[in-house]
Amino acid sequence: MGRAKLYQLDAIILERRDHGEADRVLMVLAADGRHDLLARGVRKPRSRKTGHLELFCRTQMLVSRVQGSWDIISQAEALELWEKLREDFIRGTYARHVAELVLRFFEGETEPELFELVNTTLALLEHTPDPERLLRWYEQQVLHLAGFRPEWRMCVGERGGQPCRTPLRPRPDDRSLYGIDFERGGALCPECATQVSDVTGGLLSPSALSWLQALQREDYTALATLPFPVRTARELARWMERYISYHLERRLAALRMMREFRAGLVSPASTNPTELPYSISEDYTETV
Ligand SMILES: [Zn+2]
Repeated sequence: MGRAKLYQLDAIILERRDHGEADRVLMVLAADGRHDLLARGVRKPRSRKTGHLELFCRTQMLVSRVQGSWDIISQAEALELWEKLREDFIRGTYARHVAELVLRFFEGETEPELFELVNTTLALLEHTPDPERLLRWYEQQVLHLAGFRPEWRMCVGERGGQPCRTPLRPRPDDRSLYGIDFERGGALCPECATQVSDVTGGLLSPSALSWLQALQREDYTALATLPFPVRTARELARWMERYISYHLERRLAALRMMREFRAGLVSPASTNPTELPYSISEDYTETV
């Protein structure tokens, strides 16, 4: 047997599942993409690696390459712990949403921008007073990197077989409503919005559209202190969950968990956000 090939990996732990008696398989994201790794003995109480391989940690790892199986983590040292993502139910559930979109939209190799985006989002999620706003920003950025960038600036509707392409410049005093069209991947002008189907879209307020444009265009720091009306926040949460579910052809486990929590159907005391009842590594057969 030749010597094991070792390599260094700076990676964020997105998901993990128990394997065998004391091991875990970790799904991690590094600058070059997704990796599935085996952490041996990590569930033993005295494992030295345990505290460094928690969900959502960013960890420097030394990994040995194994032919025909998972590569094995030999050493691990956490660079960022982001403790609140495991201690706080709401932040933890939103961190699950961040991880879920990566696991659903991307496989194998990815661009370094994805790692930077996830790193920035989790770091902000640890402290932000407004995780909802941050999540809406993250969704726009991740859709762009996944090749599903929605068109919010120009009408995606068609009239008489011709693309409408009317520039959309929503103003707070607009009397008419705009539209969102999942299938065509963007927004509709007020005239095209009158034809929108409730299966593949719906009506969108001027405030919501204007926020979608800004969330797609701006760095998060430019948006963090702007007034974000509660009604707009709720409208965007509802529409983006449906929009993303439509393109993934499945429900989003973490957002569903959050809705059930808000409706009083689950209590954080009985639920650890790192052990959601709806595993994001399971396959859903339900349709949206
Ligand atoms: Zn139009």
